[in-house]
Amino acid sequence: MLDEILPYALVPGHAGVFVCGCFERWVSIQLQAIRGHNLAWALIETKRLVAGQRAAVIGGGFAGLSAAAALGRKGVLVTLFERAPALLATQRHNHTRWIHPHIHEWPRPGSRNPRAGLPLLDWHAGLAADMAAEVLNAFAVETARSKIEVRSAAGAVTLGEGPSVSGERFDAVVLALGVGVEKTFGALPLASYWTDADIGTVRPGPARHHLVTGIGEGGVIDTLYLRLAGFSHAELADRLAEVEGMAAIEQELLTIERELEGRGDVDANAHLHARHAGLAVPAAVDALLKSRLRPDTRVTLNGPEAFALAPRADLFNRFILSRLLRLGGLEYVAGAVEDVSAEGAGWQVKLSSGRVLHVDRVNVRHGTVPSLAAAFPEIWAAYAPVRRGLPHLTPRPAWPAGYFG
Ligand SMILES: Cc1cc2nc3c(=O)[nH]c(=O)nc-3n(C[C@H](O)[C@H](O)[C@H](O)COP(=O)(O)OP(=O)(O)OC[C@H]3O[C@@H](n4cnc5c(N)ncnc54)[C@H](O)[C@@H]3O)c2cc1C
Repeated sequence: MLDEILPYALVPGHAGVFVCGCFERWVSIQLQAIRGHNLAWALIETKRLVAGQRAAVIGGGFAGLSAAAALGRKGVLVTLFERAPALLATQRHNHTRWIHPHIHEWPRPGSRNPRAGLPLLDWHAGLAADMAAEVLNAFAVETARSKIEVRSAAGAVTLGEGPSVSGERFDAVVLALGVGVEKTFGALPLASYWTDADIGTVRPGPARHHLVTGIGEGGVIDTLYLRLAGFSHAELADRLAEVEGMAAIEQELLTIERELEGRGDVDANAHLHARHAGLAVPAAVDALLKSRLRPDTRVTLNGPEAFALAPRADLFNRFILSRLLRLGGLEYVAGAVEDVSAEGAGWQVKLSSGRVLHVDRVNVRHGTVPSLAAAFPEIWAAYAPVRRGLPHLTPRPAWPAGYFG
């Protein structure tokens, strides 16, 4: 297991500095929490940190909190630095997004289990703000128990030799800055996935035309919220499980997933399109989705590939998307966005294909600008080339039962 953790954390030329989950393709709250626990386990097991030594953890998201709590349990003296005024700043005020710990494993056994099942800071499926509150309460217990020092509103900390953080010496520094800040275009205000509070609200009046650009996880999930009334992964996965004939489709979906291995993005995109077109999905699935289509939205989904299904979205979301496309629940338009400009109360969007779209709202879900690159460019310059050479992994818990007490 160490070889699935340490090469992903070490920074050449920067002894004592470790990266946790800042350069990953498969990122969810659960997976980042596992990465935090795993790194703590690896640092303790390889004696890079021992009880009584000092560790700085930079970043107060789920990865940072997990690493801090796990190191604290092993007797390491942890100081947590968070730039924002509060921990879990991204999720703690979001009452719109449903979070489920295992949905990325759907339809494998256990994927509908609502408990995360973590040894520390365990949580339950729910709205982001509620699950964040559950984790923050558990973290407050850990800070008292393990004497973790929390420095929020820390501003821009600096990293030095030793290693040191803003001139203060530590035995190790864990960089848990997350995957970064979302992107936007020109005059279009940044509308973060986590601050789009009304995405699930069904409004009276004429349908609004939304362009969702990006066919990774963020763009596909936004599309599901915008087209399906009351969308929640957990509830919909439960309804699908009741449909006769879904078990066979689930096995076929897993087969298709295995067929993606080794394919590049373009090849995988064409393969998914062809294979989904041939699936004999029970009519009850489409009937269920059709009954939930929102009357107040029209969605154009856009991505760089020829078809809408990309392996960078999770299987569950991608499957629902494939059915909505089949039902005519949205349209897909291929091509890179070249320009977004204001047009009346809405937006004009130019694509590389020459097509021009006129829409009321635009959701840009084009991934993130890495925080690690922005905050610590020298670390990024040393780390990124090595990390690019490593395959993307879904982390597995490395610690044995009872390891963290
Ligand atoms: C569009 C989009 C949609 C997503 N949807 C989901 C979803 O539905 N479900 C899900 O589970 N996950 C989702 N994710 C991933 C989700 O954001 C992560 O799972 C979660 O926030 C990861 O936690 P983290 O600790 O790695 O990073 P973050 O939550 O980003 O936390 C990093 C922390 O580090 C702090 N920080 C950054 N730079 C510095 C610095 N220089 N000094 C000090 N502190 C710093 C930040 O303020 C932040 O608090 C989504 C991500 C995106 C981009």
